[in-house]
Amino acid sequence: MANSKAPWAEPYKIKVVEPLKVTDREYRLNAIKEAGYNTFLLKSEDVYIDLLTDSGTNAMSDYQWAGMMLGDESYAGSRNFYYLESNVRKYYGYKHLVPTHQGRGAEHLLSRALIKDGDYVPGNMYFTTTRLHQELAGGTFVDVIIDEAHDPQNLHPFKGNVDLAKFEGLINRVGGGKIPYITIGAPVNMAGGQPVSMDNIRRVKELANKHDIMIVFDATRGMENAYFIQQREEGYANKSVAEILLEFASHTDAATMSGKKDLLVNIGGFVAVNDWDTFEELRNMVVIYEGLHTYGGLAGRDMEAMARGMEEAVQDAHISTRVKQVEYFGQLLLDAGVPIVEPIGGHAVFVDARKFYDHIPQDQFPAQALAADFYIESGVRCMERGIVSAGRNKETGEHYFPKLELVRITFPRRVYMQSHLDVAAYHVIELFKKRHEAKGLEMVYEPTYLRFFQARFERIGK
Ligand SMILES: *Cc1c(COP(=O)(O)O)cnc(C)c1O
Repeated sequence: MANSKAPWAEPYKIKVVEPLKVTDREYRLNAIKEAGYNTFLLKSEDVYIDLLTDSGTNAMSDYQWAGMMLGDESYAGSRNFYYLESNVRKYYGYKHLVPTHQGRGAEHLLSRALIKDGDYVPGNMYFTTTRLHQELAGGTFVDVIIDEAHDPQNLHPFKGNVDLAKFEGLINRVGGGKIPYITIGAPVNMAGGQPVSMDNIRRVKELANKHDIMIVFDATRGMENAYFIQQREEGYANKSVAEILLEFASHTDAATMSGKKDLLVNIGGFVAVNDWDTFEELRNMVVIYEGLHTYGGLAGRDMEAMARGMEEAVQDAHISTRVKQVEYFGQLLLDAGVPIVEPIGGHAVFVDARKFYDHIPQDQFPAQALAADFYIESGVRCMERGIVSAGRNKETGEHYFPKLELVRITFPRRVYMQSHLDVAAYHVIELFKKRHEAKGLEMVYEPTYLRFFQARFERIGK
């Protein structure tokens, strides 16, 4: 299948349509200026093809919509909760489930339950909300991803892997007692959607077990990771994505989940654990921050849609199309010489803005500028993943200067067809041809937390 030259098509057809608005350049110049050159501040109705994120932007199936009518909106003990719980056990294998309104709700609860002031929390590269919740709970995040992950052109097949020497080095430096858990994101969003191998998670488990350190799986895109293992790792070609996912999760102790990604819904998440005491703590806390432990901030119908989405998302036909759409788009850019992160990741194509706009210094936000320019050029929306997303060091107050200065072009699941991808790629390539005309940005408003969402900019030299 993977190397076949035969054409492929999306394994679904359209039943309901949502019209798109086409605007002209003049209109978009004005819109992005008003939005402070931040694509998060654009009105979605001013966007033609929305490739900002794959979070909560999924198209639900008729099966899921039908499930919405079966919402049991009882305050306690909703039947949809028990269905979701049984599916989490079936597909991920964890014993206990606490639903949350989305992924960061799960991260908040788990960080508070497990981290004590002065603890260290290693992870295979940071994720914005994950790291923030760890810091707010008194922990210090330590990146233990392999060095290859920081090199956009390195073709390592599992660039999300943990560097065991870095992990062990941290254990030796601070002691296992100061490390409540290690977070394994798979694939690694911030590294360009790069996967973690089964071999690597097994080794992480061995080391972590020796020092009594829990492994928390950020399972948000775990199905894509399972697909990459099937495609790339020896011994897995004949296993289904569902089997691989279950095996991967079995090497971990807990998971945080944003259902808005893999699980084909618009809202929802959960935290799942094997350990009873941790579960008790989470179940106590969810009542304070999210809602009762059988709904966690969700309507019964949302839990039903998420449980059904899980069944559909884990199908090989779905996940392979999902990843192939991303590969198709990435290949169009590669063929035109546009610098992108390779190998192409599972949910997005990451353009290397440092190379694309090599004349704009990093503190003039080249990736932010590129995302804005792409919108002006085409009406397509994407986002920055570089110095703005990285934020500031809480001690020195300086910007973090990440090695990767990227623009993320992300694909919602089951929403767009190949023809939309052709249009979007065409415009990236047009922009690349006139890249030397581009100018950087200056930040004129900076929020305290997760600044990339709401920061505002002005164009330099205009
Ligand atoms: C989106 C995401 C989260 C946070 O989930 P939300 O539902 O947006 O709160 C955590 N980790 C990863 C890897 C993500 O992609």
